[in-house]
Amino acid sequence: MLQLDTGIEYLKGVGPQRAEVLKKELGVFTCRDLLFHFPFRYIDRTQFHRIRDISAEGDQYQFKGILRRLETLGDGRAKRLVGTLRDESGSIELVWFKSIHWMEKNLVVGKEYIVFGRATEFNARFNMAHPEMEEATPDNLQSARTFDPVYPSTDNLTQKGLDARGIRRLMRTLLEGLRPGEILEAIPPYIQTAFKLIGRYDAIQKIHFPENQLELDAATRRLKFEELFFLQLRLLQIRRRRKDAIRGFVFEKIGDYFNNFFHQKLPFELTGAQKRVLKEIRADFASGQQMNRLVQGDVGSGKTVVALMSMLMALDNGFQSCLMAPTEILAQQHFNNLNEMLEGLGVNIGYLSGTVKGKKREALLEKLASGELHIVIGTHALIEDWVVFQNLGLSIIDEQHRFGVEQRARLWAKNPAGPPHVLVMTATPIPRTLAMTLYGDLDVSVIDELPPGRKPVETQHRTEHHRLRVQGLMKEEIAKGRQVYVVYPMIEETEKVDLLNLMSGYEAISRDFPPPQYQISILHGRMKAADKDFEMQRFVKGQTQIMVATTVIEVGVNVPNASFMVIENAERFGLSQLHQLRGRVGRGAEQSYCILLTSFKLSADGKERIQTMVQTNDGFKIAEADLRLRGPGNIEGTQQSGMLRFLLADLARDGQILAAARDTAAKILEADPALQAPEHHGLKVHLETTGKEARVCSRIS
Ligand code: ADP
Ligand code: MG
Repeated sequence: MLQLDTGIEYLKGVGPQRAEVLKKELGVFTCRDLLFHFPFRYIDRTQFHRIRDISAEGDQYQFKGILRRLETLGDGRAKRLVGTLRDESGSIELVWFKSIHWMEKNLVVGKEYIVFGRATEFNARFNMAHPEMEEATPDNLQSARTFDPVYPSTDNLTQKGLDARGIRRLMRTLLEGLRPGEILEAIPPYIQTAFKLIGRYDAIQKIHFPENQLELDAATRRLKFEELFFLQLRLLQIRRRRKDAIRGFVFEKIGDYFNNFFHQKLPFELTGAQKRVLKEIRADFASGQQMNRLVQGDVGSGKTVVALMSMLMALDNGFQSCLMAPTEILAQQHFNNLNEMLEGLGVNIGYLSGTVKGKKREALLEKLASGELHIVIGTHALIEDWVVFQNLGLSIIDEQHRFGVEQRARLWAKNPAGPPHVLVMTATPIPRTLAMTLYGDLDVSVIDELPPGRKPVETQHRTEHHRLRVQGLMKEEIAKGRQVYVVYPMIEETEKVDLLNLMSGYEAISRDFPPPQYQISILHGRMKAADKDFEMQRFVKGQTQIMVATTVIEVGVNVPNASFMVIENAERFGLSQLHQLRGRVGRGAEQSYCILLTSFKLSADGKERIQTMVQTNDGFKIAEADLRLRGPGNIEGTQQSGMLRFLLADLARDGQILAAARDTAAKILEADPALQAPEHHGLKVHLETTGKEARVCSRIS
C-alpha cells in the first residue's frame, strides 16, 4: 500500500531516472506532490456532437458521421487531402496536410467514423485539420467514450516517456494504490452538507479521472472551496490573535482640535461615506485594540480629510501622527493642503523627505523628538531609524500599494510604548475577492460615494488622425480658463525612447501653443526634486495652462481647475494606471474630458482596456476588468504575494465560492475561536500541519 510521503521513485513505473526528471521539471518529489499535479484540461469524448452545433473555433468536438468524399487537392506545398464528413445535422470538411498517402489508403468513403479534433474557422466556415479518425464499430463506439485528463508536461519529461499520456498512466497507478485513509478530510461534515461538497478522497479521485463533466465540476468546486476556506480561516485567525495580543492606545475623547476644525474650518459637508468611515475609525481608537484599517476610496472620494480628522483625534488625546506618501510631489501637496486647512488652529505640522537636509532636518527631528511637532508629513524618509517621535499614536500611509511590506512594517516600531494605530489608504480599487484575500486580516472601510456636484469625466478614444481636432479642443478649454494635462508613457525598460518621445511631444506642443499666450509645464521622473516642485507649483497656481508629464502625476495630484487630459499611447498603460491618471481631472465642478490617443491598430487586450475606460468611471468595475485581463498576480501591489497562488481557485471567477468560504470561516471562529469543538478537530490539525508556508503579507500594513 502506498503512503503519500513516499519518494516518487518508488511509485511503480517511475524509478530513479524518471524520478530525477519529475523532480527537476515539475517539482514532484513525493507521491503527494504528484497527486496534486492536477490536469490543466480534459478531453471530453463522452458525447457526440452534432456537426451543426459547432460554435467556437478552437474547441474540441467529437462527431459520428459518414465519410462522403476524399480527394487530393493542390500540389507541391499546397497539396492536401480533403474529405467531407456528414451526419444527420450537416457536414464539415476534414483536411490533412501531412501523412496524405497513409490517410488516403486507410480511409474509405462511405464508411462511418468517429472523428475527434479541434474546429478551425476558414472562409467563414468551420473545418477540422488532422482529426483523429476511428471506424465506428460497436467496440470503438463503446471504448471511445472517455473523459481524459491532460497533464502539463515538458520536452524532457516526454523524452522519458512521460508525456501527458505517460503521466496519466502514473496517476492511475497512484490512485489505484491510494487508500481513503491516506487523504485526511478536514472539512467537518456539517459544512460539507451545507454547501453540498463531495468528500476530499472522492474529489481528488475525480479531479484526475472524472467520468463526465458533472463529476469534474463537483470535484473542482470542492477543492476550490477547500483552498479558499483554509486561507480565510487562517487570515481571520491571525486577525483575531493580533487583536487579542496587541494593546492599542486608547483615544477616547474628541477635543478642541477636532471640534475647532470641524466647526470653523471644514469647508464642506462630509459625505455620508466619509462620516461612516470616520465613525469606524473612531470606534477603533476607543476599542483598546490597535487599529489596522484599510480605507479604500476611488480617486477624488475625499480620503485626505478623513486622514486629517483622524490625526486631530490623535492630537486631542496627546499623540503625534505621521502621514507618509509615496512621492515627494504628493507629500508636498498634502503638507501644503494641511497647512492651509489647519491654519490658525495651533497645530504644528512638519515636513520631511530626503531633500530636507542639514540644519533644517536637525531642527525638525528635534521638534519631533520633543513632541513640539504634532503632525509630520513626508515620504519614505519617515521610516528611517533616525526619525524618532516623542509619542507616535497614529501612522497613516497614503497610496499604500506603492510601499513594500517591510517599509510599512517599520512604522510599527516607531513608538517603544506600543505600535501606533495604522491607517492605510488606497485609491486603487481592489476587487472584493482580492481584498478579501490580500487584506483578509485587515479591517476594510470603503468610501463609496463622491462629493456632490462632481460630473463624471467624459472619456473618448481617438487615433492619430484626430490629433488636430484634439488640439482644437485643448484650445477651447484653455480659452475657458481651464488647464490641460498631456501624459506620456514612461516605462523603465524603454525609458530612453520614452524620454525622447516626451521631449519631442513637448516641443511639438510648444510650437502649437506658443508663448506668451500659452505657458507650459513639464514634469518627469528624471528631473531634480526642486525643478519638479517649481513646475508643479506653476501649474497649481495657474501660471501654466498645459502640463506635459509622465505618470509621476498619476498619484494623488489635485488641481481642480484642470479639466482636460490627453493620454498619449494610451494602449501602453495598464487599466488601473489609466484610471488613476484620469482621476486627475474631474476634480472641480466643470465637465471634464479625457482623450485616449492610440495608434490605429490595437491588440485585443488593448482594445478591451480602452473600451472599458470609455464605458465606465467606476473604479471597482475597472479593477474587475483588470483582474480578468491580467490575472490576480499582476494587479498592482500584489505581485509578491504568495497568497494569490492557488492550485485551482481563480479570484476573477470564483467570487461566490470565496464569499461562502470567508463567511463560513468567520462563523466558525466566532462560535469556536480556538477550534476546540470535537467537530473542528480536523480543521485545527489541518491548520497546524499545513500552515507553515502561509505567509501573511498584509499584516502590517
Ligand atoms: P482622494 O480620495 O483621491 O485622496 P482628496 O482627498 O484629494 O481625494 O479629495 C479630492 C477633492 O475633493 C479635494 O479637493 C477635497 O477638498 C474635496 N473634497 C473632499 N471631501 C469633500 C466633500 N465632502 N465635499 C466636497 N468636496 C470634498
Ligand atoms: Mg489622495
